[in-house]
Amino acid sequence: METRTLEWDTPMYRLAVAQLDQTAKLMGLQENLWHRLRTPQRAHVVSFPFRRDSYNVVETVFGYRVQHLTTMGPTKGGIRYALDVDLGETTALAMWMSWKCAIMNLPFGGAKGGLRIDPKSFSPAELQRITRRYTSEIIDVIGPDRDIPAPDLGTDEQIMAWIMDTYSQFKGHAVPGVVTGKPIEIGGSLGRKEATGRGVVICMVAACRHLGIPVEGARVVVQGFGNVGAVSALLAHAAGARVVAVSDVQSGIHDPRGIDLPALDRWVAEHRTVEGFPGAEPVSNADLLTLPCDVLIPAAIQGQITGANAPQLKCRLMVEGANGPTDLDADRILAQRGIMVVPDILANAGGVTVSYFEWVQSLQHFFWSEDEVNARLTQLMTKAFADVLATAQQ
Ligand code: GLU
Repeated sequence: METRTLEWDTPMYRLAVAQLDQTAKLMGLQENLWHRLRTPQRAHVVSFPFRRDSYNVVETVFGYRVQHLTTMGPTKGGIRYALDVDLGETTALAMWMSWKCAIMNLPFGGAKGGLRIDPKSFSPAELQRITRRYTSEIIDVIGPDRDIPAPDLGTDEQIMAWIMDTYSQFKGHAVPGVVTGKPIEIGGSLGRKEATGRGVVICMVAACRHLGIPVEGARVVVQGFGNVGAVSALLAHAAGARVVAVSDVQSGIHDPRGIDLPALDRWVAEHRTVEGFPGAEPVSNADLLTLPCDVLIPAAIQGQITGANAPQLKCRLMVEGANGPTDLDADRILAQRGIMVVPDILANAGGVTVSYFEWVQSLQHFFWSEDEVNARLTQLMTKAFADVLATAQQ
């Protein structure tokens, strides 16, 4: 290994690389391929001045776009707006995107991008200006056949619309294929918003079947009530499971009898938090992870299950909705304890899979029905789950 520190060497990058090293050794991967996969092929770092709504305040904003591997086709992956975004985190996430696309047989290499900001502290006007400026800074490296962004933590379809519009203004015509996860009205795909959560639940059902856990009545705990967590909880409930606890950034709620998910959804639409939902007990995000349950779905942020709390988990199955929620110590402990883990690069790959469908629809200007999207997603996820399980058993 190099003696000089790599610019992207951070704890999260080290986790991704340690996972790669472990797997490369196990599968006897050729050294030259292995080393190619350890580092990002292209890493773009940008900084720009940004004027807040309060006219005299000008801040310097840092942004990234990492393209891990350009061999497989254009690169693909989300853009996150969060305060911990840095080159190491973005690189780790881009590496995971490469593996995710490979598992799903999608014609993409992995990418990821982000801005180091707290999007909640910005007005809609500020978010629009910052998104357009970031897009301008990376405009030469993105494009439908180059690198296709999508939503991730802290970004949504509105942000994707601004990226598409900035890119389209630059080209002089509408280019819907430059982003996925965009609003339906401008060429987004039906089913994309729910796709990650839907994929999580497809994996949950398949894993339950494998373990002999009946889905009907299975106790499910979900950490995170963003796009991934909320849809996972709703669809698990719809599949007959008993969702006994959920949480958001602020706090969680617990009801061993099972939470009425459609009612909770209406509560959150009105109050913007799960906190205070009638009939449920409050529970902290940390305690939620160790509640007795059949299935634990961490669907918030990275680094949640560690060597410290893995011995206390009381689930039989964990399905990773978030990217990188589990560290290597925890992985080892969970394996020893016989807790099955469906890893993020499979469990949350439903998002990028429907992104692929959206990209294809955008390129062809030919749109699919929601049933078609969901049926194809189910087909690809079910096959990927079976393939990964067979490899793991080998
Ligand atoms: N950000 C999502 C992920 O981590 C989706 C990426 C995409 O759709 O390109 O998988």
